[in-house]
Amino acid sequence: MAKDPETVQGFYDELLPALIEKGRQEIEVMGRLLAGDTADASAELQVWDWRFYDTQLRKLDYGVDNNEVAAYFPLEQVIDGLLAVTGEVFGLEYPRVPDASVWHPDVVTYAIHDADSGEELARFHMDPHPRDGKFSHAAAFDLVPGRRLPDGSYRQPVSAIVANLTKPTADRPSLLQHNEAVTLFHEFGHVLHQTLTQAELARFSGTNTERDFVEAPSQIMEHWTWNASVLARFARHHETGEPIPEVLVSKLVAARDLNVGLSTLRQIQFGVLDMDLHGPDDDKDIDAIHPWAGPTGARSSRRAARSTRTRCCATSSAASRTTGRSSASSASPPPTAPSRMSGGLFSFLGTIHRTFAHIHRDSTVRSSTGVTPGGATSARP
Ligand SMILES: [Zn+2]
Repeated sequence: MAKDPETVQGFYDELLPALIEKGRQEIEVMGRLLAGDTADASAELQVWDWRFYDTQLRKLDYGVDNNEVAAYFPLEQVIDGLLAVTGEVFGLEYPRVPDASVWHPDVVTYAIHDADSGEELARFHMDPHPRDGKFSHAAAFDLVPGRRLPDGSYRQPVSAIVANLTKPTADRPSLLQHNEAVTLFHEFGHVLHQTLTQAELARFSGTNTERDFVEAPSQIMEHWTWNASVLARFARHHETGEPIPEVLVSKLVAARDLNVGLSTLRQIQFGVLDMDLHGPDDDKDIDAIHPWAGPTGARSSRRAARSTRTRCCATSSAASRTTGRSSASSASPPPTAPSRMSGGLFSFLGTIHRTFAHIHRDSTVRSSTGVTPGGATSARP
């Protein structure tokens, strides 16, 4: 949809100045909390402080206690709600398949039926909880892409959600953080995309589509997890059965954009690095590509590139395609090399700024904004 590299660069041109300023403000707010906690006015906010103070601010400024919210999102209820809502919208039913052959006892298998005809269209597996040795992110895998077979029949798609949602304990069911519920809806968007396909060829089946469209169905699914009337259908307190109060949903929605500057910059960092590695220049110098490049820079750049590739959530067996991730499962700090982390979060801004300036050879962002986000702890060039 972007069609050419200039459009992508123009997009970043437009976004980055405002986002960098927003990120700077967000760092300053969190930095004041850190200074208060440590009684040290010179304490420098580090990358690993980000999520802690994000949670603190969510509670202090918006009244959102993640554990209070989780009481309304038992996993089984969220799955039932997810299936009820999408079943109604798309005319589907999801009977369980109790005797399916699966790779672990935790895995539950569902069939997808057309509600009117009763025809089985596809199947999907749900592997919700972490365990030793398991894939550690959240993803939807198209295990069998749908396609037309030589005998004229249609090969039934099979997908799987592999996630790491909060596990139940001896005295408590699996209670999801709201962002985990968002992740589940997001991944199920990929499952629907993969399993409701009618493509003739596997190459174009489900999420084997143009890469910048892959996340679209999942974004629509995410939207429903912020809607009070949708949540009222299934988000009920695991002990009292009371539906989630509208006022609590309003608080969640109000806090949705907390630190959106930093989280968007993190996503842009992936995109900018990707453009740098795979953009139009023929002559790729991996040591020069990234601002933290230097004597150990190539290794750091490769680590960052690997990190970018593994932060994906829709996978396609036919083309091994991967995509960037939404905010829902971006619970990890950015892929920052150790030398950058020692410089704190301001250096994270500096990294993005310099990376962008590197690919955008005339450095128009630097000149147009006048900001030098590297601050006192300037990075190696
Ligand atoms: Zn996704």
